[in-house]
Amino acid sequence: MANSVFGVTTTSIFESMSRLAAEVKSINLGQGFPEIGLEPAELIEAAIGALREGPHQYPPMMGLPALRQAVADNAKRWLGLDIDWEREVLVTSGATEALADCFLALLEPGDEIILLEPAYDSYPTIIRRAGATPVQVRLDPPDWQLPLDRLEAAITPRTRAIVLNTPMNPIGKLFSREELAGIAALLLKYDLVAICDEVYEHLIYDGRRHETLLSFPEVRDRVVRIGSAGKTFSVTGWKVGYVTADAKLLKPIAKAHQFVTFTTPPALQAAVAFGLNLPDSYFDGLRRDMTRRRDLLVGGLRQAGFAVGDVAATYFAVAAIDQLPEAGDDYALCRRITREAGVTAIPISAFYDARNVHSHIRFCFAKSDQTLQEAVQRLARWREGLNWKAAS
Ligand code: PMP
Ligand code: GLN
Repeated sequence: MANSVFGVTTTSIFESMSRLAAEVKSINLGQGFPEIGLEPAELIEAAIGALREGPHQYPPMMGLPALRQAVADNAKRWLGLDIDWEREVLVTSGATEALADCFLALLEPGDEIILLEPAYDSYPTIIRRAGATPVQVRLDPPDWQLPLDRLEAAITPRTRAIVLNTPMNPIGKLFSREELAGIAALLLKYDLVAICDEVYEHLIYDGRRHETLLSFPEVRDRVVRIGSAGKTFSVTGWKVGYVTADAKLLKPIAKAHQFVTFTTPPALQAAVAFGLNLPDSYFDGLRRDMTRRRDLLVGGLRQAGFAVGDVAATYFAVAAIDQLPEAGDDYALCRRITREAGVTAIPISAFYDARNVHSHIRFCFAKSDQTLQEAVQRLARWREGLNWKAAS
């Protein structure tokens, strides 16, 4: 038991940094969740209404028809996708469950699956529990371009799938259509599927467009697309996710879901269906608000002397730490700024399976303007103190 996959798994960095932040009462820009009050009021009202009305018993295993239709309609509206909601959409308890269902359903012991690092921390653990081996291919700063040659070189006869997280946590990268075309070609050449984690699909800035592999006709039946209400509606605790894929590919994933959770709370499904059908103004407003928050955080961090690259999408900005005097490793630095500056961040090493890249720390900007202003002021004061100490 002690050497089992979960026996050696440590507490997630998001949980442990949030605990530390609560303990020392720092501003928590670590774990990715919106500050209280940023949830859309009309969505909360829809959930209250659905709770009053019921029903409260098991909904259909695939999810409420209204939500599955809303997932398909939203994908048509924003991405031009044609989805058959009855056969191609499954509702899950968050993207975390959706990912686990995909790994359990599509991988067999001995299979390999490629992850692009930095990668979200739930992927490699569940892949191992499914008996498969994660094979990592790294993106390098400062541009974090897709290394297509290295990706192809990592494919072996055992490779079954590639996981693609776009927009990408923690680096805020949006994969371009050219990069996706390169991946699509590999799926065809080596007979692979792609599991696309697109939970940040509506958090895209500066007029950019989210592109999905599912829109490439030649790989339409090889792509699983995962979304989550948590990010789109600032309700990360709700855990309502959705999987879209060709009916044949979705079938075993739905069977995994059937025995992992079976269903997801019906009132929350009804509220998310309402949310996905909100007019464009909701989604435009979300992007506008998040753009302002990104600018507050990124501008403030740069003024405070942190090296921060462009953030195209997501909740997150990463700051390079190699030029900070006495920074130590990323984990030590995150603990240190929590205690000394009163601001919490996440060490990037948590997104590397080998935990051996310490180059950046990640800040979440899904917070009120006031919170972000206070956080960057605290960090600026802390950095001034560091420079002063370094000079003296
Ligand atoms: N994938 C990525 C890339 C994430 O950042 C997260 C966490 N927000 C998830 C999946 C999990 O999403 P959920 O909360 O819907 O399970
Ligand atoms: N996805 C969130 C993040 O990257 C964390 C979710 C979790 O704590 N499991 O911060």
